[in-house]
Amino acid sequence: MPSSADFNSLMSITTRPDITMVSGSGSWITDQNGTRYLDFIQGWAVNCLGHSPQVVADALARQAGRLISPSPAFYNDQAIRLADLLTANSCFDKVFFANCGAEANEGAIKLARKWGSVHRNGAYEIVTMINGFHGRTLATMSASGKPHWDELFEPKVAGFIKVPLNDLDAVAQAITNKTAAVMLEPIQGEAGVIPATAEYLAGLRKLTRERGTLLIFDEVQTGMGRTGSLFAYQQCGVEPDIMTLGKGIGAGVPLAALLAREEVCCFEPGDQGGTYNGNPLMAAVGCAVLEELLKPGFIEHVREMGSLLRDKLEALSRKHHLGEVRGAGLLLALTLPEANGDTLVVQARDKGLIINAARPDTLRFMPALNVSREEIEMCCEILDEVLTIDATGTTGVTV
Ligand SMILES: *Cc1c(COP(=O)(O)O)cnc(C)c1O
Repeated sequence: MPSSADFNSLMSITTRPDITMVSGSGSWITDQNGTRYLDFIQGWAVNCLGHSPQVVADALARQAGRLISPSPAFYNDQAIRLADLLTANSCFDKVFFANCGAEANEGAIKLARKWGSVHRNGAYEIVTMINGFHGRTLATMSASGKPHWDELFEPKVAGFIKVPLNDLDAVAQAITNKTAAVMLEPIQGEAGVIPATAEYLAGLRKLTRERGTLLIFDEVQTGMGRTGSLFAYQQCGVEPDIMTLGKGIGAGVPLAALLAREEVCCFEPGDQGGTYNGNPLMAAVGCAVLEELLKPGFIEHVREMGSLLRDKLEALSRKHHLGEVRGAGLLLALTLPEANGDTLVVQARDKGLIINAARPDTLRFMPALNVSREEIEMCCEILDEVLTIDATGTTGVTV
């Protein structure tokens, strides 16, 4: 087999290790040399049921033989069924399907702007958070608060006002008569798993009601059981007007959704659409995934495994003098006293464990939601070895 570095026809967009993945099952992924890895990033918090789950393979096979693309000009039974399932299990009334999280957020931004033009005198600004992440389209990059993105692809889409997370006064000051919405992640994922506090979210709900603007939760990473409830908003007692979903909703296939309360839904024919949006192949997978998540005991398992992983990470932190453990459910981060996260990621991978350094000083864990107790124990044993080696410096790896 040629090495991945020889595959020069892929456009270069990031640095990747010289590993080519070829198969996966549950919490395990296998490369071209047959090396197996315990995967605690799972397609970036995407594979909520692990790699190649049977229910997804079955839904794809079944639907592929029935109907793949009737065109967005017609209803299809799978999209209707999935929208019904989502609205029946959330506080929202209507759903628009998209193909990725960025596109769902792009839709949320458009809906908020349309709502502002119809109901709020043309208000179009959206208050978003510093260090927030909403995707890689031009508008969602503009909405995101990643520091070094400021200079990229100028000029940005206008109308995004950035404030620090968990600072209610800053939002109160940022809202003007031009503001249509406040948009944020209940837990900032890419920023390093930084939770918005429950008081802050409750305060935002009150503030946005008083000031007559919408509240949008980007639950692309936190939704679909990831944080120990079906959606993260359910844990803070705050119901947003609009929510976006992605990642886990497709368990690995490209599917995302924009959900909104009835009063907010003001798209008119021609405002929103897309060739593949709501196609029955992906919607059939979404139904199969949501049905799994709704099975008795599934979310309880996420909570149990989440607290087990948290306990074990906290024990590792005490043993190796590391920092705090943050997050909820199976979206957790362990902070490090030094900026050696990238080194630890490589050392862990050499020992068969895949994790992510969301920041140079923050390790992030996002295993399959059906991860087992043994797999969590194995993850923490490997991490313990790596941290021990790292402390004694016997690897010769320079940080
Ligand atoms: C991953 C992510 C996105 C972008 O989703 P894509 O499917 O990559 O477009 C948006 N918002 C949040 C919170 C995310 O974690």
